[in-house]
Amino acid sequence: MKKLLYGRRYDHVPWPQRVYLRPGERRVRRVQRAWRHWRRPVVPLADFQAAVPLDEIEEFVDCPLCGETRQQPLYRPRDRHGKWDYQVVRCPGCGFLYRNPNIRPERLGDLYATGYSRFLTGRYADHRHRRYRVTMDAVAPIFESGQGRRLLDFGCGAGLFLELAERRGFECFGVDLSPDSVAQARDRLAGSTVFHGSPADVPEIAAGGFDLVTMWSVLAHLPRPVEDLSMLRGLLRDDGVLVILTVNAGSLHLAGMGSRWQGFTRNHLMFYSRDTLPRLLRLAGFGAVGFAPFYGDETAAGESALPPAQLARLRRRVAATDGGHMLVAVGFATGAAADRWGTRLPDLRQLG
Ligand SMILES: [Zn+2]
Repeated sequence: MKKLLYGRRYDHVPWPQRVYLRPGERRVRRVQRAWRHWRRPVVPLADFQAAVPLDEIEEFVDCPLCGETRQQPLYRPRDRHGKWDYQVVRCPGCGFLYRNPNIRPERLGDLYATGYSRFLTGRYADHRHRRYRVTMDAVAPIFESGQGRRLLDFGCGAGLFLELAERRGFECFGVDLSPDSVAQARDRLAGSTVFHGSPADVPEIAAGGFDLVTMWSVLAHLPRPVEDLSMLRGLLRDDGVLVILTVNAGSLHLAGMGSRWQGFTRNHLMFYSRDTLPRLLRLAGFGAVGFAPFYGDETAAGESALPPAQLARLRRRVAATDGGHMLVAVGFATGAAADRWGTRLPDLRQLG
């Protein structure tokens, strides 16, 4: 069918970008999403619990953002080799997408106990560095100079981002749940202080006074996001900011790919969009939120192979529709912090 519609004209376009370039596709995906939301039944939590099996590290949850108990089961992501699968539901109250059953917070460490850090080197490291650089540019001027500023990387992994932050002059701290990753980060980093566990367990971090907290592909892994973000808000100064990169549940890829969407990875628990993330930040005590478009790392780094006309079209359409495949978001501790750091963001909102 696609061959018939488009021929080979879009074969050279990386597939997450095709949805923005192929004629008519954005409209089709929006209709597809609306149809799915309209057609799938909404069920009481008790009925849902009766129908879905529960693993020992899992628990059933209400909507973490609004407390709604009814569930609309929408997706069933699964591993190609049959090693895992889970249910993703949509909250009929606020539209939030989350995994249900979810992981019990005290068992979260089970997911990261061993082997999680071995992917974080080599070519993967180069790609991650590029992603950090383009995201830092997208939210400028937040990362321009680290002189005299304290930064906490929440979920720092093997320290790949802290390596860049050190070079920009930040006073750097990191925490992670994986002991392997923390050991690697300590080997890698000269000037950062990295701990295993939660910020609350570390007096140097629990004392607060941070200018910047970063969460690189971490937010989707948190089973208690309101508690965690409230804790992080408490660590920030009044003009402090929280920079978040996570998969974008509002993206048209999800509408098109359904359960096979790339954002449904094994350890992801919650899926945010420009519609649902502001609610989380407001609950956690933030004063404002801003978003930047995500064009893809190659495109943002000027390394895309697309012809200039297609590139321009891609940028225009990403900015005008859902913001792209990933969600680039900034939570500002106060409205004044947004006035100081967020004025260049194209989508900036006060959280009343
Ligand atoms: Zn809700």
